[in-house]
Amino acid sequence: MKLVILGAPGAGKGTQAVNLAEKLQVPHISTGDIFRSNIKGGTTLGKLAKEYIDKGALVPDEVTIGIVKDRLQQDDCKKGFILDGFPRTIAQAECLDNILAEMDTALDCVLDLAVNDEVITKRLSGRRVCPECNASYHVDYMEETQKGICLVCGTKLVQREDDREETVINRLKTYHNQTEPLIGYYKAKGKLVVAEGKIRIEDTKTEVYKVLGLEK
Ligand code: ADP
Ligand code: ZN
Repeated sequence: MKLVILGAPGAGKGTQAVNLAEKLQVPHISTGDIFRSNIKGGTTLGKLAKEYIDKGALVPDEVTIGIVKDRLQQDDCKKGFILDGFPRTIAQAECLDNILAEMDTALDCVLDLAVNDEVITKRLSGRRVCPECNASYHVDYMEETQKGICLVCGTKLVQREDDREETVINRLKTYHNQTEPLIGYYKAKGKLVVAEGKIRIEDTKTEVYKVLGLEK
């Protein structure tokens, strides 16, 4: 399946994308993860991306589109992919259509994970992530004995710099102005399915499987 997951920052795209990639045995492509690993590695791309990410703004389309195009042209994407965090602008969506058309293929489906702003603000401020394996957690749902440590790899969890409150407000503004119009764009193409994000990850997963017509 060639799938895009849309949703506000903190809607839980990453968590659902990782699960779906595993289930469908296709690569998970997260532009946010690509930028963060470049920031960590101190690359030129990382330095450039960090300036935008820290402000809650988008990395320029010229940069982001090239990266995604290279990734989609790799062999492992032939059987499908889950795109998480891309496209985020109408220009990116149009380029994605062109990139796929050049490869003689097209998206099967676009999943919108719908969650309201209030829930999102709460979630992001309590989010803690593993800098090693990208697993993410919430302070309210961590067991006392596990607090602060990644269950997958044992690394000390950190708060993403862009999860600070001022940045979150800007990320939400950026989302409403630049990314939300994609919902109409894909609806018009008949590709959109909507899953309502729930409080519990498991419940969201149930909803996602249902709207995508997947067996649990
Ligand atoms: P979230 O969806 O929670 O904001 P991501 O990890 O998807 O987290 O993205 C983090 C940041 O990386 C974004 O706020 C933005 O600055 C940058 N970014 C990610 N994907 C894109 C994209 N497709 N276009 C431009 N910037 C992007
Ligand atoms: Zn980890």
